Amino acid sequence: MLLAAEAGRYGLRTALVETAASTSDQPKANTVHARALQSLARHGYREVLPEHGASDNTAMFHFAGIDGLAITSPEHEPPPVAKCPQAVLERAFEQHARARGVHVLRGCRATQISRTRDHAHLTLQSERGSHRISADYVAAADGAHSSIREQMGFTKDFRAPRISALLGVVRFADPATAPAGWHRTRRGWTVARDFGNGYTLIRAITFAGTPPDRRAPVTLGELQREASYILGRDLKMTDALHLRRFSDVSTLAHRFLDGRVALVGDAAHTHFPIGGQGLSTGIQDALNLGWKLAHCIRGTAGKDLLETYDEERRQAAQRVIDNTRAQAVLMRPDPELDPLRDLFTGLIRHDKDQNHLAAAISAQDTRYAPRTKGASPLEGTFLSNRPLVTEDGRSTSVVELLTEGRPLLLLSGPGADSTHRAQSRAWNTVVRTVSVRPDAGLPQEAVLVRPDGYVAWACDSADSLPEALRVWFGEEP
Ligand SMILES: Cc1cc2nc3c(=O)[nH]c(=O)nc-3n(C[C@H](O)[C@H](O)[C@H](O)COP(=O)(O)OP(=O)(O)OC[C@H]3O[C@@H](n4cnc5c(N)ncnc54)[C@H](O)[C@@H]3O)c2cc1C
Repeated sequence: MLLAAEAGRYGLRTALVETAASTSDQPKANTVHARALQSLARHGYREVLPEHGASDNTAMFHFAGIDGLAITSPEHEPPPVAKCPQAVLERAFEQHARARGVHVLRGCRATQISRTRDHAHLTLQSERGSHRISADYVAAADGAHSSIREQMGFTKDFRAPRISALLGVVRFADPATAPAGWHRTRRGWTVARDFGNGYTLIRAITFAGTPPDRRAPVTLGELQREASYILGRDLKMTDALHLRRFSDVSTLAHRFLDGRVALVGDAAHTHFPIGGQGLSTGIQDALNLGWKLAHCIRGTAGKDLLETYDEERRQAAQRVIDNTRAQAVLMRPDPELDPLRDLFTGLIRHDKDQNHLAAAISAQDTRYAPRTKGASPLEGTFLSNRPLVTEDGRSTSVVELLTEGRPLLLLSGPGADSTHRAQSRAWNTVVRTVSVRPDAGLPQEAVLVRPDGYVAWACDSADSLPEALRVWFGEEP
C-alpha cells in the first residue's frame, strides 16, 4: 500500500492487486520504530506519526524481553517509537494511493507471473474472472509466503523455526491469572497486554521445537494449555477474538530485485517478530524503492540506480534478522543463559552508552554504501531534520523540503551558491536546489539529499557535483 501510494505520488500509472476485500483488524504489527517514522515524516505521512510532546525524544523499549532500553531520536524528529496498529497504517496508505490515482484492485489475486525483456505479466483472478495485465515493473509485497517470489525462482536463505508461539486476544475468567508484560519461566514466555473491552492480547512462546502442523488452526484450548504449561498453573480463558500461530522462521531472499520484479517487505525477509521490526523494515523498503522506480521509469536514473535497492535493503534486512536471532537465543528458558541475560540486563539498564542496541532496533544505524568517487564520510548517512531559513527569509526544515519527493540540493555558506548552482543547472528539472542561511548548521556547504532523506553527496567544493548528479540521476536531462 505504501509503495503504491509512493508510485501514485510520482504520477506512475499503478495498479495495486490485493486478495483481501478489506483491511483486516486481526492484530499484527503494533510498533513502528524511529527510522521508519523519520522516513514517513519526510514523505509527508504526518497523520500516522505520533504527536510530539515536550520530553518525547526518548522512549523506553526492550531487548529480548529485558526492559530498560532507552531509544532516543534526534531533536526535531518524531518520537522514537509509535504504537500504531498495522491496519491503521494500511488504511491511511490506501487512502493516499487512491487519492493519487492508483487503481486499487481488491478481492483480486495475482495467480501467475511471467517476464519478457521489457515487461512483467501478471494473471489476476477475481470473482469477475481471470485477466492479464502487463507492467514495466512488478513489486511483490505479498507477504511471507509470497507466491510471486516462488514463481519467479528467487532463492533465499531459510532458517527452520525452533520456536513455537501462539497469539490470542482472549478473556480470562480471572484477570489476575495472566501476568502483564514479558514474563519468563523455565518453560518459556508469556507476553500479555490489555486489549480493551475486557480482552487481553497474550502470546505463549515455547522453545521445544515446532508443532507437527504449523498451518493447523489454533484453538482456545491449545492456547490455554500452552500458557498454563509455561506459567505452571491453570489459566482459564473464556473466549477469543483472534487466534494465530507464529514462529522464529527466518528467510532472506538472495536478491530483492530481478530485472523487472522487486520483492518488498515480508516477501523479501522474515524473522521472529521480536522488537517490532518487521513492519518498520518493510516501510523503509517501500520508501527506498518508490523514488528509484520513478526515476527509472521517467528516464532520470543513473546507471544501476535500481540495483541499489537490492544492495541497500538486503543488508538492512540481514542486520534485522541477525538481531532478532540474537534476541531469540537470549530468550531461551535454559538456566545456562541466566548469566548472559544478567549481563545484558546490566548493559541495557545501567550502561549509559547503550546506543548500539538502541540504534540497531530503531534502524537509526542504517547507513548505505557511498557511490561517488572520493565520497564524503556523510554520504549514505541520514540527514537529521533541522530548522532552516532560506536565503529569502522563509522558515522551513529538511523534512518540509523533502515532502515534495524530489532530490534536494541544500546550499549554505559563502562558497556555496553560484558555482554549485551553475554546476547543477542542467539537472534543475530533477533536483530541487535551495539556498539556506549559513547558521542552519549543515554539515557541509553543499549537501545533495535523496528523496528518502539519505545523503547522496556532500562537499564544500562544487567540482565533483556534476559527476555525483550523473551517478544518481543520469546524464543531463
Ligand atoms: C504476532 C506478530 C506480531 C508482530 N508485531 C510486529 C510489530 O510490533 N512491529 C513490526 O514492525 N512488525 C511486527 N510483525 C511483523 C509484521 O506484521 C510483518 O512484518 C508485516 O505484516 C509485513 O507486511 P507486508 O506488507 O510485507 O506483508 P503482509 O502484511 O503479509 O501483507 C501481504 C499482503 O499481500 C496480500 N497477498 C498475498 N498474496 C497475494 C496474491 N497472490 N495476490 C494479491 N494479494 C496477495 C495479502 O492479502 C496481504 O494483504 C509481527 C508479526 C506477527 C506475526
